[in-house]
Amino acid sequence: MTTTRFAPSPTGYIHVGNLRTALMNFLIARKAGGTFILRIDDTDQERSKQEYIDGIQRDLEWLGITWDRIEYQSKRLDRYAEAADKLREMGRFYEAFETPTELDLKRKKQLNMGKPPVYDRAALSLSDAEKEALRAERGNGVWRFKLDHQRIEWTDGILGDISIDAASVSDPVLIRGDGQVLYTIASVVDDTEMGVTNVVRGSDHVTNTATQIQIIEALGGTVPAFAHHSLLTGPQGEALSKRLGVLSLRDLRDQGVQPMALLSLMARLGSSDPVELRSDMAELIEGFDIARFGAAPTKFDENDLFPLTARYLQSLPLSAVKDSVAAAGVPEDLAEPFWLMARENISTLNDLEEWWTLCRDGAEPLIDEADKDFIAEAMEMLPELPFTETTWSEWTGAVKQATGRKGKGLFMPLRKALTGRERGPEMATLMPLLQKVRGRG
Ligand code: GLU
Repeated sequence: MTTTRFAPSPTGYIHVGNLRTALMNFLIARKAGGTFILRIDDTDQERSKQEYIDGIQRDLEWLGITWDRIEYQSKRLDRYAEAADKLREMGRFYEAFETPTELDLKRKKQLNMGKPPVYDRAALSLSDAEKEALRAERGNGVWRFKLDHQRIEWTDGILGDISIDAASVSDPVLIRGDGQVLYTIASVVDDTEMGVTNVVRGSDHVTNTATQIQIIEALGGTVPAFAHHSLLTGPQGEALSKRLGVLSLRDLRDQGVQPMALLSLMARLGSSDPVELRSDMAELIEGFDIARFGAAPTKFDENDLFPLTARYLQSLPLSAVKDSVAAAGVPEDLAEPFWLMARENISTLNDLEEWWTLCRDGAEPLIDEADKDFIAEAMEMLPELPFTETTWSEWTGAVKQATGRKGKGLFMPLRKALTGRERGPEMATLMPLLQKVRGRG
């Protein structure tokens, strides 16, 4: 059965980059009728925070990305220790004692000599006595996995055929000197034991994947199908990493971005299919195909989210937004006509309040110098409140007769006088919602 997972480290809130990973894994599982696991990669106890675990769940729930199971790596440490023992017994695991400064020096030397900066495996030739002495002097060493120096190959679901020479990669550190288990092994043990069949993640993980394939094989597990999506850049192709802080899902939510707008964009961005606004998750699942994604960096512009949000809102009935309409202060008996008017004129639900304020309090009139007398005359003719759907046509008809004005010269000044702006809803729709007119005598 198809099983995928989204495995965030709870060291921050999730942003659009993580969302891409979450969404792709989710859609693959749902399309196949499989299982989607939310796996919290919290082996780093210092940096992992409950606040972020809660935040990640809230963000995914907001988007409707539901998981069948949640797993915490911090609760599975014994499993990782067992796997480590196994690797040790097989002779694939060795302790190394170099300090970060020493490793840095080695790397610099290699680079100076024009060689790739790959760990030289010096620790492999330490005698037991030497290790003992180093341990006494420096504390426990780190544990490195001894790669098999051959080519590691897989067919990537996005990148195609990949072949990496294991000799060009350093033996990965799987356990730190202080005993902390690192992601590379924890992830492999989880993927194997949880029956993960497909792993989609960012292309920054390609080298990890190479080493993880060897670890999985050493532990006797089944290698999942891997796909590495390209990293997001800004609209100009600039690195997004520094801006990801402000592109967190919670910020986008606060700005009024609608889940379906965000999901519709992220499910297609970077693929050869056009972005299409979807109305629900079922449509999104139906229209998703990982094979359509390309390896080139994907340009992301958060401004694209607002027109999509506006279009999505236009399609909604009142029942879908009742709470937001009420929260904007609209009384229940006006909610329906107000929403039908407002939904054509907002980019996010955050704009509702502004339209309701206009309806409730009226607007400061906008009157051009040349229209002063005209507006004064028209205002005399404006019927008493409350207005109805026919007020606008009756009033403008009467004003036309009295003044001889017509077309834009008639309608625009009247619109500006009543709404304080040049653009907005159909006036016939807006009039019955107006509770006050400010420009009247
Ligand atoms: N916790 C890892 C990360 O956030 C998971 C990567 C993976 O999907 O294997 O980068």
